[in-house]
Amino acid sequence: MRGRDVTVTCDNCGRKTPRNKAVSYEKGISFSTDLHNENDIRFFERKSVYYCISCAKHKGIFQKKAEQAARRGERFGGKFR
Ligand SMILES: [Zn+2]
Repeated sequence: MRGRDVTVTCDNCGRKTPRNKAVSYEKGISFSTDLHNENDIRFFERKSVYYCISCAKHKGIFQKKAEQAARRGERFGGKFR
């Protein structure tokens, strides 16, 4: 795989983006049948998705990642205040 152009698909717009330019983001998805009775099924899944740069900016992914990093007590790119 080394040296090959790996592309990923942006989860928002579906555009193919080189992986080194894409922004990975772990998003939580919850599923529910919304039956509101004992047959109701709910589960929560974490999924890693990729966004192209413009979608990441639009969706505020950089800020979210900075917040996640801050919660873990890390600095994000040295720019997080
Ligand atoms: Zn996109």
